[in-house]
Amino acid sequence: MFWRTVLVAAFACFFLAVPDVDLLLLSLLHHRSILTHSALPAVIPFLFRRRIGLMPTAGALIGLHVHLICDALSPAVGFGQVWLPAPFKTPLGALSPLWLIVNAGFCFASAQAICRRRMPGLSGAVMVALTGGVIGVLYGLLNERSVLSAAVCLIFPGFLALAIRQRLRKAPSGA
Ligand SMILES: [Zn+2]
Repeated sequence: MFWRTVLVAAFACFFLAVPDVDLLLLSLLHHRSILTHSALPAVIPFLFRRRIGLMPTAGALIGLHVHLICDALSPAVGFGQVWLPAPFKTPLGALSPLWLIVNAGFCFASAQAICRRRMPGLSGAVMVALTGGVIGVLYGLLNERSVLSAAVCLIFPGFLALAIRQRLRKAPSGA
């Protein structure tokens, strides 16, 4: 459990920065590109799953979840919007926060599904709730310098924590 958590947390921290690689490719992608500001970057570790397993993909998804949900707080104007790549380079406008929130939710749910399958009992779900919550709060406070960003990072981990609590309450009677 310990080393798996370290591996997942390391990939999560690395993938916190991955969506903003669009800044290096501005001739093709606008900043806040729909390609990098989605679950898509997690395909990279997924392609290597036979060699490195699925836990790095779970980590990548957690990092993407945090980045996307924090970006969803920006007003949907200018660089705050999600943009289609060249040759369109058109913004999603008011749909931008919705795109970011849906993708953040998909990333978190997928990370949770991977870890629940790979780890015994509720340990996978607990690990995803903890790493997602802790990394999200640190990213919100240190990178975004915003208590609100830290708070939104706790929405999906919070729901997962409630589901875990529910399962634990049911466990004795169900056993
Ligand atoms: Zn971004």
